[in-house]
Amino acid sequence: DEILKLERVCKSYNVGLPTETEVLHDIDLELDHGEFLALMGPSGSGKSTLLNIVGLLDRPTSGRLLIKGRDTGLLGDNEITHLRGHTIGFVFQYHLLISAFTARENIMMPMLADRGFPSAEIAARADHLLAEVGLERFGNNLANNMSGGQQQRVAVARALAMNPDLVLADEPTGNLDTKSADAVFELMRRVNRQSGTSFLLVTHNLDLARRCDRIIEVVDGRIAQH
Ligand code: ADP
Ligand code: ADP
Repeated sequence: DEILKLERVCKSYNVGLPTETEVLHDIDLELDHGEFLALMGPSGSGKSTLLNIVGLLDRPTSGRLLIKGRDTGLLGDNEITHLRGHTIGFVFQYHLLISAFTARENIMMPMLADRGFPSAEIAARADHLLAEVGLERFGNNLANNMSGGQQQRVAVARALAMNPDLVLADEPTGNLDTKSADAVFELMRRVNRQSGTSFLLVTHNLDLARRCDRIIEVVDGRIAQH
């Protein structure tokens, strides 16, 4: 059974306007539980659009998106929000941490936002996640005062806070030096191997892509398998 399945997904922007453009065309894609997939392709080819759809931030114009076997087209906005919060974690190129918060506070955010999470456990879980990304001594550091690589490791920890089935990472190493990029990638790979979390990694780094389970390329809104 797959975590993710796209069937003939199309996405158009500016629907109904003279500027209407289809940017994703009949995308078929499956991602298995535990799979670590690299998504490559030139700028403007539709990678971010695809990630936004898979991440339930945007809806397909046509076609079906199934997450854990559920047809997301049949879900209302509240159900979508709940599914997103409990199933998917996000890491972006620009970490989007809250710079005036500490590393620990940033990791606590998704758990605090979720009413179902027992509040007594939140700080302890944040510390556990800090240790998992090798930052156990940095919990009280302001995000602002951490290096780019450290901030991205905090972002990975935050993405894991709700114990997601799938992590979507959009060029998380894009503005890091080779050594930090390697460390952040290997961290995600280790989490993937240890906990079976699936990953979908958008990257322009062929060296990292080759260390994933599979590479797919998006070109002009279509998928080219490798
Ligand atoms: P990539 O992530 O591969 O660089 P994008 O998904 O960002 O590609 O963009 C794919 C195409 O869709 C591009 O032509 C881009 O200009 C267009 N596009 C992206 N977002 C929007 C939007 N919100 N409105 C209109 N066009 C968009
Ligand atoms: P990337 O290449 O990483 O996708 P972009 O610079 O293409 O980054 O896009 C940044 C943001 O701008 C995205 O949210 C995208 O959806 C939006 N965007 C891109 N192209 C357009 C466009 N033609 N019209 C409106 N929004 C766009």
